[in-house]
Parts: sequence; structure tokens; C-alpha cells
Amino acid sequence: MTRTDDREALIRRLVRPAVQAMQAYHVPPASGMVKLDAMENPYPWPGELREAWLQCLGDVHANRYPDPTAGAVKERLRREADVPDGAELLLGNGSDELIQLLGLALGGADRTVLAPGPGFVMYRLIAGFTGMAFHEVPLRDGDFALDEGAVLAAIAQHEPALIYLAYPNNPTGNAFDDAAVRAVIEAAPGLVVVDEAYAPFCGRTWMAALADYDHLLVMRTVSKMGLAGLRLGYLAGHPDWLEQFEKCRLPYNINVLTQVSAAFALDHADLLHRQTEALRAERGRLFDALIARSRLTVWPSDANFITFRTPAGRARSIHASLREQGVLIKCLDGSHPMLGDCLRVTVGTPDENTRFLDALDNALASV
Ligand SMILES: *Cc1c(COP(=O)(O)O)cnc(C)c1O
Repeated sequence: MTRTDDREALIRRLVRPAVQAMQAYHVPPASGMVKLDAMENPYPWPGELREAWLQCLGDVHANRYPDPTAGAVKERLRREADVPDGAELLLGNGSDELIQLLGLALGGADRTVLAPGPGFVMYRLIAGFTGMAFHEVPLRDGDFALDEGAVLAAIAQHEPALIYLAYPNNPTGNAFDDAAVRAVIEAAPGLVVVDEAYAPFCGRTWMAALADYDHLLVMRTVSKMGLAGLRLGYLAGHPDWLEQFEKCRLPYNINVLTQVSAAFALDHADLLHRQTEALRAERGRLFDALIARSRLTVWPSDANFITFRTPAGRARSIHASLREQGVLIKCLDGSHPMLGDCLRVTVGTPDENTRFLDALDNALASV
């Protein structure tokens, strides 16, 4: 055993400074809570479907490596997402792993990742540990719209290797104006990833535009449509680009249980689509209910969550009060200068949303 100060000195000497400077991604405990913090689909599968799924799993050979191409899953994802002919798919252990793969393939100190902010935290985090500079362009204050002029100016100044546009954006919930997105794609000197994690709740997509732009990549995940536990994301784009990224993908990154389960679930995609429809309807009800609470500022959402602002200085105590009442949502206060006093709630079942609204009313009345 080394002495504590020796160990700490060795850590400081050996662990890369960029990693030492990072904060680990924190996931709060949620056992027994109404869980409305992570954009999960709240609906389980009906009994007979679970039985059929378990049958499929019974045929899995856990002693063998999985299909290295995950061909059966890819074919179903292509169909599910209407991937145009000519585009290929790269699969990741969640889209988070795809973001990491892009960093590994493109990374280097003279390389910049550009993204609007407030945005998805993993873009910055992964740029950090894959050795890329990260430049954030502020969204428009007030409505979180993409500031086309500011993005174009930042592109000219920083010549980013990679631009991320989350469409709809997390944590603001809006899908950016299409003309502004197109202008960014056309001005980009490197790659543009349109991250469509919330596509099932939006109805608009850039998938078909892959046919127009070789430097465009569209990223999707099955997480938000109801399969978060499987960890499966996919990147659609030109085969020449994907061929390079494939080299950084570890073999067998999509395990056999995920492959079989995702293929099974996508064969029953209508169920997931019906659940998504129900969540969109609930989003409308939840939005109306939040808007009716006049002390809140609420932003419209194209995703399965709603971000809102509490009265000044109250977000953290309201968040804590909700937690004490058994409802877990996300506190955004302090995470970004434009998100002061903001909270984000995932759309749950009608019952969960009602419990959230009741708990919110208690919190607003009591603190
Ligand atoms: C949730 C989310 C993802 C991550 O999806 P996983 O496939 O679960 O890793 C990617 N992008 C955005 C914008 C998200 O909100």
C-alpha cells in the first residue's frame, strides 16, 4: 500500500488533466420514486408480449459472441427510421457511445466541437476526454431558438470538425427552425450530426436529407421510444464516413441480449408507437396544466419532457420538496446561465403526471 499522499501525487501525475478536471455524470437514486427525471417511457409491455420476448431470450447462446454486424437489428432500425438507400448505419451502446466514437475518430487538440447551448451535456463531456476543444453558441434568450447568425459567425471563426444539433434540443425541448438548421449544414466545413433522440415525439426529421449532404449524419436512439435499458443508438450516414468510425468501434459492442430484444421489440413497434402517441397526448395535457399555473414560465416541447421556470430562487427547494413527496424530476438550476430557476419534467403516465402536478402545487404553496 502506498501512503495516501503518494497515491494522490501519482493520480495527479498519471491521470490526464482533462479527465481530472471533469465531473462524473451523476445519476441520482430513484428507487420507489415516481421517476420523471430521465425521459424514459413509463409503460411496461403487456403480459403476453413479455412471454413472447422471454421465449426469444431462451434461444440466446450466452456462451457465444454476438453477431458482430448486428445485421438483424440494423435491418429493423432501417425500416423503423426510413433510412434512405445509400446511407449506412453504425450502432452504438446508446448514442452516448456514438458520440464517443466520433470523438475518438476526429479528436485532437486542434479540433473543435461546436454545439448550441444550453444543450446535451455529453457533447461537452466527451469532447473533453477525447481531447477536442468545445465551443458553445448561446441559443436565443427567451425562446431558445437557434441563433443562425451567431452559429454562422462561430463556424467561420472556429472551423469546427464536428457540429451537434439536437433536434429537438435537450433540455429546452424545441426543434430548431428548419431553415436555420439547413443554413448551418450548408455552412459547415466538417461534419454535422443532427441528434434525433426525441424523433418519436417530434414528427419532423432530417433523415431524408442524408441524400442531399454527404457530411450530414443523423443520430437516433431507441432509449426515448421505450427501450432505454437496452442501450442501443444508431448513426446514419455516408458509408465512407462510417467506414472510418467503424475502426474505433470495439467489436461486439452490441451485446446478444440487446440484439435479440431490440429486434423483437421493433417487430412489435406498433405498441411502442401507440405508447408514444399516448405520451404526446399527455404532453399536451401536462403543458396546459403547467401553463395554467401562472407563476411558472413554460416552454413548448417537441420532446417527451417539459422545461419550466419557477418563481425566482425557488427551483431547488421545489425540486427537493417534490423529492420528499416521492416525485423525482431534474433540477436544471445552476447547470447553465440561461437555465436559472429551471426544472425539467419527463412526461409520464396520466397518473404519474397528476401526482407530479399535485406535488408541485404543494411545493409552490409551502416553500
Ligand atoms: C437522451 C439523449 C441521448 C442519449 O441517448 P442514449 O442512446 O440513451 O445514450 C442523446 N442525445 C440527446 C439529445 C439526448 O437527450
